[in-house]
Amino acid sequence: MMQIPCPFCGPRNESEFFYGGPVRPSRPDPAAVNDEDWTAWLTQVPNPLGPVQEHWWHARGCGTWLTIWRDTRTHDVVEAPDDAG
Ligand SMILES: [Zn+2]
Repeated sequence: MMQIPCPFCGPRNESEFFYGGPVRPSRPDPAAVNDEDWTAWLTQVPNPLGPVQEHWWHARGCGTWLTIWRDTRTHDVVEAPDDAG
């Protein structure tokens, strides 16, 4: 099972977290982009092979939202927020 390092609780099992999706670019102004780019932003979810930045919610723990970098090939967390202490 994947271990996710929470900055407040330490390393915890993935089952304590809810996946919040990948970090996406900010929402563009629909009037400032063409239809193709707007449709792409609305419908395409980043799914790279390799490191991806994701949101996770420690729902069965401290309730903190955190952002980690996870390698989609290995499910290893390659970068996480610093420990709180
Ligand atoms: Zn936590």
